[in-house]
Amino acid sequence: MNENKAVAGESINTVIALLADDTDFQIVAEDAPVMLWLTNAEGKVIFTNSKWKKFVGAVTEGHLGGDAWLLALHAEDKEHCLQIFNEAFLSHQPFQMEYRLRRFDGQYRYILDMGEPYINKEGRFSGFIGSSADITDRKNYENQLRLSQLELTQHNREMALINELNSYLQVCRSLEETHSIVHHYAKQIFTDQTGALYLFDESHNTVEAVVIWGDEKFFSSPVISPDDCWALRQGRLHVVEETENAILCSHIAEHAVQGYVCAPAIAQGEMIGFLCVTLGDTRNDKGVLRTSVESRTRLISLAADNLAMALVSLKLREALRNRSVRDPMTRLFNRRYMDETLIRELANCKRSGKPLGVIMIDIDHFKTYNDTHGHDAGDYVLVEIADIMRAKLRSGDVACRYGGEELVMIILGASREITVERAELVRAAIEKHEFVYKGRNLASVTASLGVAVYPDGGDTAATLLKTADTALYIAKESGRNRVVVSSTTPFVE
Ligand code: GH3
Ligand code: MG
Ligand code: MG
Repeated sequence: MNENKAVAGESINTVIALLADDTDFQIVAEDAPVMLWLTNAEGKVIFTNSKWKKFVGAVTEGHLGGDAWLLALHAEDKEHCLQIFNEAFLSHQPFQMEYRLRRFDGQYRYILDMGEPYINKEGRFSGFIGSSADITDRKNYENQLRLSQLELTQHNREMALINELNSYLQVCRSLEETHSIVHHYAKQIFTDQTGALYLFDESHNTVEAVVIWGDEKFFSSPVISPDDCWALRQGRLHVVEETENAILCSHIAEHAVQGYVCAPAIAQGEMIGFLCVTLGDTRNDKGVLRTSVESRTRLISLAADNLAMALVSLKLREALRNRSVRDPMTRLFNRRYMDETLIRELANCKRSGKPLGVIMIDIDHFKTYNDTHGHDAGDYVLVEIADIMRAKLRSGDVACRYGGEELVMIILGASREITVERAELVRAAIEKHEFVYKGRNLASVTASLGVAVYPDGGDTAATLLKTADTALYIAKESGRNRVVVSSTTPFVE
C-alpha cells in the first residue's frame, strides 16, 4: 500500500515538476484534486493550492506560505520535519516525510509529503514542488493492526507463562513450595502490576496473602477477614476500573488510586481464596489503549482458575500422602513411615559419622487410666502427649506413633547425652501437664522412656529399636516415670 501511494505521488510530482516552469502552472495546480505546494530556492513556500489551503483552513492570502504550514504542524513533529526539509535543500534530492497537520476543524491528521526538486529553464535549482496526502485512515489502520499484533504476542507470552506455572505447580510437594513459584511467575505474567494471592486458612476464618508482588502498600493488610473482599463474598469477579466512586474491597489500602480486579479462586466447588491484581497502565504514553480492561480481566480470571485448580489438587495430593504416612488421631507419623525413615537416616549417619538417638515412650498404667476415666479421655491424653512431643522436636527430627500408646522419637545427629536430655524434657513435660478434658481436670499422667543411640545401641533400625525397647522395659521395672538409656544403668533424675 505504501509503495503504491509513493508511485502515485511521484507521478503527480513528476507532472507538476514539468509544469512548474510553465507560466500556467499556478492556474492548473490551483484546482488540482490533490494538495500541492511550491517553494522557492531558499525554502520559503511561495504557493499552495486551494485544496491545501482549505485543508488547514487558511482562506486568505495572508495565511499563505510557510507560516501556515509551520503553524499547523504538530509541535512534536516540527524538529523531525525541519531536519528533512533542510537536508533536502542542501542535497536537492527528492524527499518524503510523514507528520501530523492540524486540519481546519482542529483535528490533527497524518500527512505524507513528497517533494521533488525542480530545475528552471536556465538549469538552476529553483526549489521544491510537492504534494501532501492525508494518510490518517491508513495510519490508524496500521496502528490498530500493530496493536492487535502486540496484544496477540503478549497473549501468547502470557499463555506460555501460565502453562509453565502449571507444570511447576503440578510437581510441588507442599503448599509452601508453591509460594515462591507463584511469586516468580506472577511478576512475569503481570509485568508492572501489583498483586496478591490470598488463601483461606484451615479454619476458613481468615484469608492470608501468601504471595504479594509489586507494591505491598497497595494492600491494607496481609491477613484479612473473608468479608473484606467483594469477590469472596459474592463468589464472582469484582472489577474496579477507576477507584473514584467505586465499591472498593476493604483489603485495598485507603490511598490506592489504581483500578484492580479480584478473582475468586474456585476449583472443584471449593473456594480457596482469591487473586487480586491491579489493572496497571492500560494506555501507552500517547493515550492509545494498549490492552483492554476486558483482556486484562480475562487474564487475571484465567490465572485465578489455574491457581485454584493446581492448589486444590495439590491439597488433595498432600492429604492423601499424609493419610498414608500419618496416624489420623495424633497426626504423628505412622509406624511404616518411621521404619522407612529410620533406615534412611541411619544410612545417612553411617556415611557422615554422626550419631542418631531413638526414644521409645510408653504411658504408665494406661490401661487403668482408661478404665478410670474412659477410653475417650485416654484418646485425648494420647493427642495431648503427641502435641508435647511435637513441641520438643527440632527440624529433621521425627515423632511417630509406634502402636497403641507407644510412641517413638528419632533425634537426628544426637549423642547419648543429648538424646537423654531430650527424653528427660519430654518426660518432665508429660508429668507436669494438666489434662483438662470436657471441662474436667483429669489425673496427671506419667510415661517411661527407653533410649538407644547409634552406634553404641546398635547399627540397624531393628537392633536400635530393640535396645530402646529393652531400656523402656527396665524403666518400667525400676519404677516407671523415668528415662533409661540403652541396656546400661537407669538414668537418674
Ligand atoms: P504400663 O505400660 O505402665 O506397664 O501399663 P499399661 O497399662 O500402660 O500397660 P500397657 O502399656 O501394656 O497397656 C496398653 C494400654 O493402652 C492398653 C489400652 O487400653 C491402652 N491403649 C492403647 N492404645 C490406645 C488408644 O488408642 N486409646 C486409648 N484410650 N487407649 C489405648
Ligand atoms: Mg504399652
Ligand atoms: Mg503403658
